[in-house]
Amino acid sequence: MTTIFKFGGASIKDAEAIRHLGKLLAGSHERPQVLIISAMGKTTNALEALLAAARGSDESDYRQRLQALRNDHLATVEALFGTQDNAVAERVEALLSDLDACQRKYRDAERAHHYDRTIGFGELLSTTIVSAWLNEIGIDNDWHDARQLIITDATHQAANVDWAETSQRLQALSSKRMGIIQGFIGATAAGESTTLGREGSDFSAAIVAHCLDASEVVIWKDVPGLFNADPRRFDNARQLMQISYDEAIELAWLGAKVIHPKTLAPLRERQIPLKVRSFKTPDAAPSVISEQGDDDATPAYILAEEQVLLDIQPQDFSFMDEPRQHQVFGWLVDAGLHANLIDGGAMRLSLCLDAHPARLEPFVEALAADYDLTRHDDLTLLSIRHPTQAQLDALSAGREVLAQRSNAFTAQRLFRRGECPETWRIPDGRDG
Ligand code: ASP
Ligand code: MG
Repeated sequence: MTTIFKFGGASIKDAEAIRHLGKLLAGSHERPQVLIISAMGKTTNALEALLAAARGSDESDYRQRLQALRNDHLATVEALFGTQDNAVAERVEALLSDLDACQRKYRDAERAHHYDRTIGFGELLSTTIVSAWLNEIGIDNDWHDARQLIITDATHQAANVDWAETSQRLQALSSKRMGIIQGFIGATAAGESTTLGREGSDFSAAIVAHCLDASEVVIWKDVPGLFNADPRRFDNARQLMQISYDEAIELAWLGAKVIHPKTLAPLRERQIPLKVRSFKTPDAAPSVISEQGDDDATPAYILAEEQVLLDIQPQDFSFMDEPRQHQVFGWLVDAGLHANLIDGGAMRLSLCLDAHPARLEPFVEALAADYDLTRHDDLTLLSIRHPTQAQLDALSAGREVLAQRSNAFTAQRLFRRGECPETWRIPDGRDG
């Protein structure tokens, strides 16, 4: 049985969390073949801020941010290993000085390239500490550098995997000892660092599982599984126990922050089940994603906030026909945007997009030359899988619907945020 475990940032956020992880592994009847690990806590966000500071002109801001990262990681090392054992602290210091050198070297390079050189240090640091700690407590493991295993093309920040090369390299690892590998990062065959996209560690686990033809993947989170709505936003959300790859992909596509959307395809291809369990309640029944889903028809609710609606109309009273749609979607692709909802009419195309200023503004600028635009900001998009009409009516009551879309399986409604509750309630009714 080849199992791959993935632990996210929350499960290793400090020394106490790492100790807990060690106990969890020591007490577990299954020892994973590979452990995929994210950066500690919010380190990746801190590295993004460090990168911005490095590219800016405020040297002291940059120094402070680097020092904060250093303090965080060294405090964890000290809490775990004490002040006597300096070997781990030395490795952490060496990584931090590489990180610093990298900023000097790449601060004027193309941003995406600089980003991929910088951002993976969170995972290099966390795996160094966790690997050493597990060895210390008798859970023998080998630390591996993902940049020598996960081989990708050079599409920075969203690299595409070279499956053949990656498989070959992963299969060459010893199957006798547990391996620890950084999530989220890879490199080109020429050794240039790449990343797989934010929150990409889940995808890393799927890549490794696919290439090793694993029997299962376990993603350990701070919630006991997948829910039919975000439990922080819906006060009566319930856990989904069995869902199919297809349904999970639909939920991820609609923005459910369950697992990285790219994770499921490589698993489905090899029929590798994915379990989502909580490191806080490891004995609770997990959610299982596999071919078979008992919960596939259960209504599920996904909120996407900070949405923008653009109503796009040709200036000359002509039709919003295919050539015009082709033009608009071409700009959308160039801007790196994804339409969360598409609606339209004879002389109008409406797009609901994430309010991602760096991407949105160039797109709006391109549109403004040829089209009349009406823009609504600060919107909330509610998507519902398998809704009943009664549920839809209940969830829309008292709120203006700015745009909507429905098909046999999914309904979407766009509201003003100001008209939405802080905490939602799933209406009673079928499976309510
Ligand atoms: N550390 C990376 C991020 O925060 C990857 C991950 O956690 O999955 O995006
Ligand atoms: Mg994460």
